[in-house]
Amino acid sequence: MITYRSTRGRAPELGFGDVLLAGLASDGGLYCPAEIPKLATVSAEMTYVEAATAIVAPYVAGTFDRDDVADMVTDAYRGFRHPDVCPVIPLDRNLHLLDLTQGPTLAFKDVALQLVGRMLDAELERRGRGVTVIGATSGDTGSAAIEALAGKSNVEVVILHPLDRVSEVQRRQMTTVDAANIHNVAVRGTFDDCQDLVKAAFADESLRRDVGLAAVNSINWARVMAQIVYYVTAARTVRPDGGPVSFAVPTGNFGNVLAGWYAKHMGLAVDRLMVASNRNDVLTRFFETGKLVIEGVVPSLSPSMDIQVSSNFERLLWEAGERDGEAVAELITRLRSDGRVEVPEPWSKTIAAEFDGARLDDDGILAEITASRDEFDQVVDPHTAVAVHAARSMIGEGVDDGTPVVVLSTAHPAKFPDAVEQAIGHRPRLPPHLAELFTRTERCEVMDDDLNRLAERLRSVGSGRG
Ligand SMILES: *Cc1c(COP(=O)(O)O)cnc(C)c1O
Repeated sequence: MITYRSTRGRAPELGFGDVLLAGLASDGGLYCPAEIPKLATVSAEMTYVEAATAIVAPYVAGTFDRDDVADMVTDAYRGFRHPDVCPVIPLDRNLHLLDLTQGPTLAFKDVALQLVGRMLDAELERRGRGVTVIGATSGDTGSAAIEALAGKSNVEVVILHPLDRVSEVQRRQMTTVDAANIHNVAVRGTFDDCQDLVKAAFADESLRRDVGLAAVNSINWARVMAQIVYYVTAARTVRPDGGPVSFAVPTGNFGNVLAGWYAKHMGLAVDRLMVASNRNDVLTRFFETGKLVIEGVVPSLSPSMDIQVSSNFERLLWEAGERDGEAVAELITRLRSDGRVEVPEPWSKTIAAEFDGARLDDDGILAEITASRDEFDQVVDPHTAVAVHAARSMIGEGVDDGTPVVVLSTAHPAKFPDAVEQAIGHRPRLPPHLAELFTRTERCEVMDDDLNRLAERLRSVGSGRG
């Protein structure tokens, strides 16, 4: 049975079920598997569901047996619009698109959250407990969490978004989900105000305990785990001979590309992992200088990648630093207090041996959306465009020794119609299942930026669970 250790070395080692419910470790670190299992044989005949079952089962052993996993995986991906779940689209010689947008909210977060939501509910059921999941969203994560948890009997969901500051599509994706356990709150304030409210709620010990607060943000190990699967199935599709493949990944919190690193260390033949950033390029600068330097977040056309510090990067630092939790804790403390830190050279060398970084600004994003349409007849969203551009640079730099590059497509272009229209002159159409999005009834409550009001609301939601 695989156990999990905190990146900061001072929290108890836990099994999967506890890690799933805890999210963050008690020492502030992130849980990582103490042992990385060898990749199960994934043959070309296996379906996505079969591959996912084989890959996930060893990580959750002791909490869920293989049959449980098979049932949850089957159920999680039943609603995806493509039979391959995460299909691969050829763009050019040695350039492929891995389409992660076939889930209910048209974004890659569905792939992990649809499974993690089911695992969370099943584990709570087994323990006879309930939780209230609370989260702040600037748009995408909220709807993916809502779709993943709607109707689950052991979970209430409270999602805060800034009033009038998310797009209409994003708002309606959250507020039109008709399930009694879903509670949308529009806060009179900014996204940062929403995040501060969530942090304040977690910091209130009695509230946290009374309501049973939980989070499903991107630091939860289960989300990284669920994402390992599509690296394996994509590699198998573009390289049936088992030869090496490179990946280019639109990156924000580093959860997606980190799953590629785990796939590689399980034994998948991965050549390069390209970390593609927008103008918020803390990681690109790290690859260039070996220093992590925090700068203010600048809004971009790819908002889900607008981040200051990539939280999952801590997991990679822990592995690169030979799992020295004390050293990781010290490094992160220094980064938080000084806004900058130099990563020890052996660590940054280890990381540079496997990762590349590239950045693209908004003008570049618009140009790439146009170029992809013209050259590959493929309309990509502004996040995916960043990675397509990075993949071109990999191939251009002579990395094209025949190693295919797979670009991860993280959102459907119809989620970002304004940017796409700016680039190619028309708005992409929403898939049929969202066609009535604009006529469905919305359910949402407006609230002042006030912790007391939120606490009241959380207590009434939590007690309704019975
Ligand atoms: C969340 C998100 C990303 C960033 O993924 P990370 O795992 O945080 O690196 C990229 N693109 C889209 C569309 C997203 O929603």
